[in-house]
Amino acid sequence: MASTIKITFFGTGGSWPSLERNVMSIGVQIDSDVLLLDCGEGTQRQIMRTNVSFMKIKRIFITHYHGDHFLGLAGLIQTMALNERKDPLEIYGPERTVDLLTRYLTVGYYSTTFPILLHEIYNGETLDFGDYVVKTLETDHGVPSLAYCIKEKDMPRIDRDKAKKYGLDSKILEKLRREGEITYNGKKITIDAVSGGVRIGRKIVYSGDTRPVEKMAEFAKDADILIHEATVDSTLEEKANQYGHTSARQAAEIAKKANVRELLLVHISPRYKSGEIIEKEAKKIFPNTRVVNDLEEIIVRVRKHQFSE
Ligand SMILES: [Zn+2]
Ligand SMILES: [Zn+2]
Repeated sequence: MASTIKITFFGTGGSWPSLERNVMSIGVQIDSDVLLLDCGEGTQRQIMRTNVSFMKIKRIFITHYHGDHFLGLAGLIQTMALNERKDPLEIYGPERTVDLLTRYLTVGYYSTTFPILLHEIYNGETLDFGDYVVKTLETDHGVPSLAYCIKEKDMPRIDRDKAKKYGLDSKILEKLRREGEITYNGKKITIDAVSGGVRIGRKIVYSGDTRPVEKMAEFAKDADILIHEATVDSTLEEKANQYGHTSARQAAEIAKKANVRELLLVHISPRYKSGEIIEKEAKKIFPNTRVVNDLEEIIVRVRKHQFSE
């Protein structure tokens, strides 16, 4: 199980960059793994304004190929190459990822110093990255589009009193938690001997762009953090839905149905100078809601009541 999960919002605006908000990009750091969800234009400069290292980005997940979600990729990759990156970079996205990104990344006199691995992924997939998985849900946006769920794996909860009897320190306990069985001082110890219940892994869901989809509530069920788009307030709801977007009211309804711990609203239309109207509207339905701003950082903590017996 990871010790730290940190979310950094590099861009929180929709459609085009404004003076208030850059376009969409979110960093999720799970211990030493840095994931990027979307990479709108100007993302690399936003990253440089935080304490996240752009060189450490391991995997990028693109929700869909509208410019405000991927046009920052080429610049970011070029900067990585100029800094002599050697580690491979994995990029995941919906249908047509390989075709679109191959063309996009080969425009101009452009060279890289590291392998770029493109992966096309589909609705309902689960990708296993060891301590955590990434799941997908097809959304409704007029072009191939995915929502992503990052879920830390559930792990056996260690009962400190039981562990004490065997004299195991935390490093050995973590090994036991991972491997299920260890030999310590010549004695075989199984996880069952020292565990008591399950430590439920943290869960973060990002909707990408979409009109409200029925399955989102199930996909985001009991998430610690639901990051949902709320492009406009409900006075513009009909038009927003036509264009494949969600209103603040509708995002809050989804959060309520999904029983999430906190709703964070993003992809705010450049027509709003502040997130106040959007936030106020959503809070009426789901009180634990915030419109997040660029460069905000959130630590996702393990909840006490996540320890189920
Ligand atoms: Zn967008
Ligand atoms: Zn879009």
